[in-house]
Amino acid sequence: MINTVNGPVSSEELGITYIHDHLFVIPNALPQYYDYTFDDVDKSVEEAVDFKNYGGKTIVDLTPINYGRNPIALESIAKKARINVCFVTGFHKEKFMPKWIDELSDQQIYDFLVGEITNGVSSHHLLPAAMKAGTSYKKITQREKRILQIEGIVQHDTHIPMITHCDKGTMAFEQLKILKAQGADLSHICLSHVDIMKDITYIEKICDTGASVSFDHVGRELSSHDQKRVQMLSELVRDGYENYICLAGDMGRKKYFLSYNGQPGLRYIITTLKDTLKSELGEEVFNKMIVDNPKRILSTD
Ligand SMILES: [Zn+2]
Repeated sequence: MINTVNGPVSSEELGITYIHDHLFVIPNALPQYYDYTFDDVDKSVEEAVDFKNYGGKTIVDLTPINYGRNPIALESIAKKARINVCFVTGFHKEKFMPKWIDELSDQQIYDFLVGEITNGVSSHHLLPAAMKAGTSYKKITQREKRILQIEGIVQHDTHIPMITHCDKGTMAFEQLKILKAQGADLSHICLSHVDIMKDITYIEKICDTGASVSFDHVGRELSSHDQKRVQMLSELVRDGYENYICLAGDMGRKKYFLSYNGQPGLRYIITTLKDTLKSELGEEVFNKMIVDNPKRILSTD
C-alpha cells in the first residue's frame, strides 16, 4: 500500500505518477518566491483535473518541512480533483532547513521523522509516502550530512522511500554513499534533477548503485521539443537503464501551470512529450518510466 493524503491505496491504483511535483507550496513571503508560491487550492485543482483528463492519476508533492508544506491543503486538492496526492516528510537543502534542527539531538530528529511516518502529520494524521533530503550545489554541508545520516537510519528502520534533491543534479554519489553507510535500501531511493547535468555516464553510474533517477526538468526547453533529454533517455534505454528512470515535472512555479496562464502545464509529459517518447522508445518503455518505476520505488511491502 502507498500512503496518499486520502488514505492508503494499493500500488496498482497509482497509475500514471509524477514522482516529483508540487501542488501546494508557500515557501516564503519574500517577493522573489512569488512565482514559487501555490496558495490557491482552486488553481491547483484546475491543473490537477487537467492532468487527470489526460490520464494522470498520482502526484507526489515533494514540498518538504519548512518550505511551506501543507498536507491538509493537498488533502482538499486531491478530494476535489479526484486524483491521488502523496506528500513527504524530511528536509530540503540547508538553505531551507528549519533553524530548530540545531536545537535537537540526532535522536530527537530521528524520533520526529519516525513520528511523522508512523503517527501522521497534522490533526488529520496524514501519513507521508516518502521522505525528502537535499544537498547544496556541488557541496554537502555539515547540516546536510547530518540530516542524510539520520534519514538513512530512518529509511533503514521504517523502509520509507526517499526522494532527494540534487542541486542542479550534483552530489548524487555523495548522497548515496552517506545513505548506504546507514543501511538505507537504495532500490527505494530516487534522485531528483540529475537530468540537469546532461551527462549520460553520470546518470548510468548512479543507476548502477541500484538507486533510481527522475528526469524532472523536462518541459523547460520547449523550442527544441526537449530534444536533448529525449536523446539522453534514448541512450539510457539503449544501455539497459529503462527500469531506473522516472519522469516528472517539478513544475512548482506559476509560470509552468496552465491554470496561471503558464506553460507547459502538468499535462505536458503525458501529452506532447509522450507522443515523442512513444515514437522514439515505444509505449511500453514510456509506461515503465511513468507507471511501473515510480510504483516500484514507492512500494515498501
Ligand atoms: Zn521540487
